[in-house]
Order: sequence, then C-alpha cells, then structure tokens
Amino acid sequence: FVSFQEVQKSYDGETLVVKNLNLDIAKGEFLTMLGPSGSGKTTCLMMLAGFETPTHGKVVLDGNHLNNVPPHKRDIGMVFQNYALFPHMTVAENLAFPLRVRRMGRAEIEERVQRALEMVQLPELGHRRPAQLSGGQQQRVAVARALVFDPKLVLMDEPLGALDKQLREQMQFEIKHIHDNLGITVVYVTHDQSEALTMSNRIAVFNDGVIQQLAEPDALYERPDNAFVAQFIGENN
Ligand code: ATP
Repeated sequence: FVSFQEVQKSYDGETLVVKNLNLDIAKGEFLTMLGPSGSGKTTCLMMLAGFETPTHGKVVLDGNHLNNVPPHKRDIGMVFQNYALFPHMTVAENLAFPLRVRRMGRAEIEERVQRALEMVQLPELGHRRPAQLSGGQQQRVAVARALVFDPKLVLMDEPLGALDKQLREQMQFEIKHIHDNLGITVVYVTHDQSEALTMSNRIAVFNDGVIQQLAEPDALYERPDNAFVAQFIGENN
C-alpha cells in the first residue's frame, strides 16, 4: 500500500540521512518508525507527506508514484507534536477547514465534524478556541483534524511527546482504538520503545538512516537481530 523503494535522502548533497530504504507497509497496518534522534525517521515521514523529495528512489502510495505529487493532493492526514491548530478558529472550524478545502457541502461538513469530535471524546467542545483547551485536548483535536476527511493514510510524528505520562498512555490507547475501529493505515514516529511496543503491528527500528530490524513487537523484543536493537529496545523497559 505504501512503499519506499531504494530511497535515499541527503540534505547537503553529501551525507545520506536515509540510506537505501526499502519498506512496504500494508493497508490497515500500524507501522512505527522507532529510533534515536537523528536516525532519519522524520525525514521518511516528510518524504511520504511530500514536504521533502527523495534524492534517489521513489515513494509509492496506493499504486501512485508520489515523487511529483504535491502535499495537498496526497490525501494524507498528519499529526505532529507541535502541529498548531489555527488559533483564531474554533475547534469546529479547525475541523471543518480540511473539508472546506475539499469543497464538501455544509451539511456533510457539520456531520463529519461532530463525528470526529465524538471519536476523540470532545463532543461538547466544538465552540471553543484552541487556547481554551488543555494540551491533551488540543492534541485530540489535532488527531480529529487528521482523520476528519477520511484520508488514505495518517502520519503521526511524536504526537504525544508534549504530554505527561498518564495522558500519554491514555492517548496511546485512544489512538490505537481509533486505528482498530477505522481500519486506517498509520505510520507513526517515536523514540519511545514502550509506546512503539504497545501500539504497533510492526516496528521498523532506525539507526543512522538504516532500518536495523523490521518486525512485530514480540519478535523484536524476544529476538533482536543485533546489539543495537537489543540495547535500544531494552532501554527504559
Ligand atoms: P528526531 O527524533 O530528533 O526528529 P529523526 O530520527 O526524526 O530525529 P530526522 O529529523 O529525519 O531524524 O533527521 C535525520 C538527519 O537529517 C539529522 O542529522 C538532521 O540533522 C538532518 N536533517 C533533518 N532535516 C533537515 C533539513 N531540513 N536540513 C538539513 N538537515 C536536516
């Protein structure tokens, strides 16, 4: 469904921050890119989202070669750690925005916005502005905004990084629940091993622009391929 084919990326024309990446992600899968800071995870998401272009190789989504498709035509929802909501718009207007861009009718917009608010358990807060919400509530709205237009694919880059531990665990559960219910394909980036182990169908462990191991959580935990994976997965667990 999503495929990186011999993808390389360099920002300076010299150093490869992604080195010959081959990765196939199945429809409906929750695939996590896990690895230390600077290992190339975000760069991979940016190439999927269309904000960066591979220096070599190609990215394919649902049979379409993406390299020359601009971001807004990719039908991809995104949630980032600091992905700002529009501060001057209410929550409902924030959610309606991606639907208006897609020229959806008023009645359908209203219905979808309400459904999205219910999905993230904020059915009553559509009239508030982002500043009147807690950090966790804002992040839920960001999740709702990424899902409201039924994207083919949802990208999440450390979406829970700014939240405290308890809220983070609750949101992990909620995001997983939404994934299971909607059957959407999610590519999730984190450097938090336990987050990756609890949420993912498969985990790609990155180091230095290379996937060190691609496996289901159990296999990764029980049978790490090499010392790097063993150590990284073992830390803080
Ligand atoms: P983090 O968890 O810190 O976000 P990451 O694994 O997502 O790390 P990337 O953000 O993909 O890693 O960065 C990989 C390398 O590419 C790093 O060395 C980084 O400094 C470099 N890099 C990332 N974005 C750019 C850019 N726009 N211009 C130049 N170098 C960049």
